[in-house]
Amino acid sequence: MSIQQQNTDANNGSGSGSCLYDLLCADPSTSWNCHQRDGHASSSGPKGKLKNLMCQSGNGICADCGSSDPKWVSLSLGVFICIKCSGVHRSLGVHISKVLSVNLDEWTDEQVDTLVDLGGNDAANLKYEACIPDNLRKPKPDSSIEERSDYIRRKYELHQFLPSDELLSCPYPYPGFCSSSSRCGNSCGSALDKKHSEKQTAGGHRIHGLGQAFRNSWRRKESEHKATKKSNSLAGMIEFVGLIKVNVVRGTNLAVRDIVTSDPYVILSLGHQSVKTRVIKNNLNPVWNEQLMLSIPQTIPPLKMLVYDKDTFKPDDFMGDAEIDIQPLVSAAKASEISSIREPMQLGSWVASKDNTLVRDGIITFVDGKVKQEISLRLQNVEKGTLDIELECVPLTQ
Ligand SMILES: [Zn+2]
Repeated sequence: MSIQQQNTDANNGSGSGSCLYDLLCADPSTSWNCHQRDGHASSSGPKGKLKNLMCQSGNGICADCGSSDPKWVSLSLGVFICIKCSGVHRSLGVHISKVLSVNLDEWTDEQVDTLVDLGGNDAANLKYEACIPDNLRKPKPDSSIEERSDYIRRKYELHQFLPSDELLSCPYPYPGFCSSSSRCGNSCGSALDKKHSEKQTAGGHRIHGLGQAFRNSWRRKESEHKATKKSNSLAGMIEFVGLIKVNVVRGTNLAVRDIVTSDPYVILSLGHQSVKTRVIKNNLNPVWNEQLMLSIPQTIPPLKMLVYDKDTFKPDDFMGDAEIDIQPLVSAAKASEISSIREPMQLGSWVASKDNTLVRDGIITFVDGKVKQEISLRLQNVEKGTLDIELECVPLTQ
């Protein structure tokens, strides 16, 4: 996911000072709602359309747990979700759920139109929750991460609650298992029949391309599911405490991997998540100036950066890596949010020395209510090259 700038407008100045400790139990009264939106000037453009969409029935609560005023969207699934559920969605991977922030991400018209076409929470739940077994409860706003994760995986990854005509194979092998549900009047046999008929209509119209992709990969998923179950379930249990915006500014004097130059790009990874910049062709001093966003898990792993040279006909060449401990930045962000001091100040620094990879001190600053750190690193495991990045810790309440 890439972001260009933070929409501070939408905060109305009320929610921006909240403490990271309290992010997951934020006071809903501090958040922006439809009433405030009505008087908002930006009712046109993608953000305006998005805000109008949020006011529609069903979109005012999280599609998965019912928390009020959700500020996150799964663009691929077409649902508005709360911050807690968004963490689970992220752990499913972008091939299942591409999560965007209503306020932090820059939205295109096309993205908003995609969301409008999908119909919002009510339409999505009619599909994805058509057939919930009686013995399974939908999570509530205060449900545990385990309960939330289990439900969201069943709903969107395993497609266990799809209406009968959407099912490729019935997850419940026992006749009548789901027949008690009011919206599920189907028999499992017809679902299997449907599978065969769908094969014959390849190329025909599909309600959801993503759903089709999953139907196609169902057999593979079944065999892989056991092997990956453990790691997947662990990933889904991760609760996020904040977000880190990483501006990958530039690379300098990078290594040559093609004849005289390279086509560099950067992969950022934090725990299970990874994002990458665009490729800049034929440039050993690339300026990406590209902002990427990652969720910060409760147990904070190092932020890893890997630089590669993009090749078309062979595997990409390695151009060095670097690692940053973001714990001090997160701690500084927590400290600043419980402090009443609002003046710009230095909150800490990562001091350059012979023993680390810093080109200069990485100073953590507090300016305009934002906690940032600029870092310039010598790339490791490569002959040369430095990487400049800027980090910002963002409260989840936005
Ligand atoms: Zn939720």
